[in-house]
Amino acid sequence: SKTVIALVGRPNVGKSTLFNRLTRSRDAIVADYPGLTRDRQYGTGRVGSTPYIVVDTGGLSGEQEGVDPLMAGQVQSAIGEADAVLFLVDGRAGLIPADESIASYIRHFNKPVYLLVNKAEGHKKDVIANDFYQMGLGEPFVISSAHGDNVNEMIENVLSDV
Ligand code: GDP
Ligand code: MG
Repeated sequence: SKTVIALVGRPNVGKSTLFNRLTRSRDAIVADYPGLTRDRQYGTGRVGSTPYIVVDTGGLSGEQEGVDPLMAGQVQSAIGEADAVLFLVDGRAGLIPADESIASYIRHFNKPVYLLVNKAEGHKKDVIANDFYQMGLGEPFVISSAHGDNVNEMIENVLSDV
């Protein structure tokens, strides 16, 4: 069956922009996958001959009680049905406490997590990624969802790894 990938991170980090790029269609709601509920946005894409399903989420604020409880239900379901979690952070904003809260929330699911440092266009990879190594999520993918930089390489790596 197709690999399911959930996009998680606080609001405004670029999840929906990445969703659109990975699916090339904002409205590609996937109707016939039993077990996937419909309160999140689903789309499909493929890399070469490998298809995948992407789940966009509304985002976690990470600001109160660790994680916004209303958002958490939706994100919890998305992560629960995912084979891999793409955790987006805003490279321009740098690491903020909300990212740390979300990281510790995500860790509890024991799913593979890939850290994506977004909004990186025009920045040196090592410089913009530097803040985020301390999250303990390994080498981040440094991408630009808006411009597409490194997005194909990222999704190829994730799919071949999961
Ligand atoms: P979401 O709330 O996480 O879904 O974030 P959105 O995808 O709605 O994007 C939030 C804002 O960030 C929008 O203004 C996007 O155009 C902008 N954005 C998203 N990706 C990038 C990127 O790679 N570079 C830059 N500069 N802006 C981006
Ligand atoms: Mg969004």
